[in-house]
Amino acid sequence: MDCYKCEVQLTEENASEEHIILNACGGRLKSKGLLCKKCNSDFGDQFDRELAETTNDLANLLIIKRHNGEPQPIRTIHKATGEKYNIEYGGAPVQSKTNYEITVDKDGKGRLSINAKNEKEFKKTLSGLKRKYPDLDIDKILASAKKETLYLSEPLEINGHIGGKGALKSITKAAINYYLHKGGGREYIKHLLPYLEGKVEMDVAWMHYPEVDIYASPQGEVSHVLKLVGNSKEGILYAYVELFNVHCFIIRLNESYTGADIDFDYVFNVHSYEVKENQTNLKLTKSELNNLFVNKNSEPFEKVKERYARVIPIAYRMQDQYQINKIISKAVDKAFGAVPSGAVMTEELMAAMREQVVGGIMSFIAHRRRER
Ligand SMILES: [Zn+2]
Repeated sequence: MDCYKCEVQLTEENASEEHIILNACGGRLKSKGLLCKKCNSDFGDQFDRELAETTNDLANLLIIKRHNGEPQPIRTIHKATGEKYNIEYGGAPVQSKTNYEITVDKDGKGRLSINAKNEKEFKKTLSGLKRKYPDLDIDKILASAKKETLYLSEPLEINGHIGGKGALKSITKAAINYYLHKGGGREYIKHLLPYLEGKVEMDVAWMHYPEVDIYASPQGEVSHVLKLVGNSKEGILYAYVELFNVHCFIIRLNESYTGADIDFDYVFNVHSYEVKENQTNLKLTKSELNNLFVNKNSEPFEKVKERYARVIPIAYRMQDQYQINKIISKAVDKAFGAVPSGAVMTEELMAAMREQVVGGIMSFIAHRRRER
């Protein structure tokens, strides 16, 4: 076995374990014996990163569990106030900057209001202010401060983007890796290497949203789809890749294909990790395939919007569950944290915990109801 890019012989040390669908998207299908570590990481730097950025919003909102690392926060601006917010993993918006305001009443009393994303930032801001206003009694302020979770009254807007040269390359690599993983011959994909390496431009991959879905995702499911077809009669080898049921691509791998007739697919449920096969429908002639690359100017925004509209309510449900679990475990930790180890759980402590849980959940639910 050697690396299909640089042809170095693969050993235990230098062989990389390749995520065929990016780890950034929560992909779990792996293959060994395709690329060396160096080439794998070069491809990662050159173009996989762009696809990871393109799909990060969905990975974040859908609470995707990756093999390594968590999805990045989504940066966004609150239109009503112009303030910057980060949507954290799990969907909670957190203001990115701490701000404070000092007002003086008619009777000369000063009022200080600090809006911080967490206690640490709150204390940091207070210490900073102490240098400017030495009279501030930090301990007194902290003792009387009440911590409150505030909810935004207006939703935040996220700007999504699709396509992009690097993203298309990354999709092409996924199709090549899936083909080789399935035992395909390297001679049918070799001509695509200069394209992956950035030496030539090639028209290999493009967005694809046909009228009839290639995979009909059941209600409530979000999945990734890989589809590979080799048709020796038509002389074509092509693939279809769908990420989160939103980003859909067709990949023209070879137009003088003489290999075996193949039809493989892989459908991966991003939440249950269930894998399905023989669930997709795609049959193209050579001219149909090539036509998909002719009228490329019309970008399928309406189709993408429809697909987002199907997936976002699923993300909301996932987030509700995630946030409610978080509220409960926080309240339990807080209640138990107050109990010295070995002490008996009293009725009072139970009541305090109930109050924390119910209070937290009620304000969260009230906010969600207002929002919809
Ligand atoms: Zn290599």
